[in-house]
Amino acid sequence: MTSLGIQTKNPDQWVAGLDIGSTMVKAVLYNGNEYRKAMSPAGWDPNKIATDLLFLLCCRSNLHKIPKVTAATGYGRHSMDKAVLSPTEISCHAKGASFLIPGCRFVIDIGGQDAKAIRLSEDGGFKDFVMNDKCAAGTGRFLSAMAQALSVPVDKLSTYAEAATPHRINAMCTVFAESEVISLINQGVSRHAIIAGLHASIARRTASMAASLHPEPPVVFTGGVSQNHDIAIKIGEEMGFPVIVPDDSIYTGALGAALLAWDWKRENREK
Ligand code: ADP
Repeated sequence: MTSLGIQTKNPDQWVAGLDIGSTMVKAVLYNGNEYRKAMSPAGWDPNKIATDLLFLLCCRSNLHKIPKVTAATGYGRHSMDKAVLSPTEISCHAKGASFLIPGCRFVIDIGGQDAKAIRLSEDGGFKDFVMNDKCAAGTGRFLSAMAQALSVPVDKLSTYAEAATPHRINAMCTVFAESEVISLINQGVSRHAIIAGLHASIARRTASMAASLHPEPPVVFTGGVSQNHDIAIKIGEEMGFPVIVPDDSIYTGALGAALLAWDWKRENREK
C-alpha cells in the first residue's frame, strides 16, 4: 500500500513482542526475517504506554496498524489488552537469547526489579531457572539508587569503575548500601572505587545465585543492567568464564515474546 509516496508494509506479515517491565517498556516487531525495536519508560498505565509505544514503532516501520498477533511478557503482561499470548519472562529471555546467540546454554537477566539465571538444554530449550525477586539487592533498581546517591548517571557507572580498584561494600540492602556509600564518600573514598565495589558485590551475588544451576558457557547476559560493561566483566570473572552481551541485550525479552508470537502465528495458520 502507498500513501504520500511512502511504501507501507502489510501488518499481517509481522508479529509484535512487548516486554512490559518495572522500569522500561520494550517493543519489537518481527517478520520472520528482521526485527525493529523501540522502548519507553514504564508508568502507571502499562496498557496505554505499551499500546502507544507499539503504535509509534509501527508508524516508524511503515506499518499502518498494529499486527494482530502480539505477545506480551514482563510484570505488566496481563494488563495488555491487545496480546493474544502472555508468555513468562523466563521463556522469553530463553528464546530471545538463543536467537541472538545461537548455542547459548545459560542466561543471566538483570532487570529493574529482579535477577534471574536460566539454564538451557543443548537444543536451546528451557531446563531450569532461579530468581531473586524478593529484594532489590543486585537489581537495576539497586544500581539506579546507588547512581543517584553518587550523582553519577546510571549509564556512566561502568566508565567510572573500569580502571578502579573496588572498595569492599558490605551492605546489599538498598537502604543500608545507600548509607554505607554516603559514609564512604564522607571518608574520602573515591567514587570510582565505590562504584567498582558495588559492581563487584552485584557480580558476586549474581554468580552465587547462578551457581546453584551449574552454569556452562556460552552464557548470555540480558536485561538493562547487562549494558553495564564493568558488571558483565566482573560476573564473568566470578563465574570463571566470560559472559556474552548481545547488541540488543535490553530487548531480549521483547524479542523472545515476538519469536513466540511468530511460532504461535505459524501453528495457528497451519491448523
Ligand atoms: P525491566 O524489564 O524491569 O523494566 P530492564 O531490563 O528494562 O528492566 O532494565 C532496567 C534497568 O536497567 C534500570 O533499573 C537501570 O538500572 C538499568 N540500566 C538501564 N540502562 C543502563 C545502563 N546503560 N547501564 C547500566 N544499567 C542500566
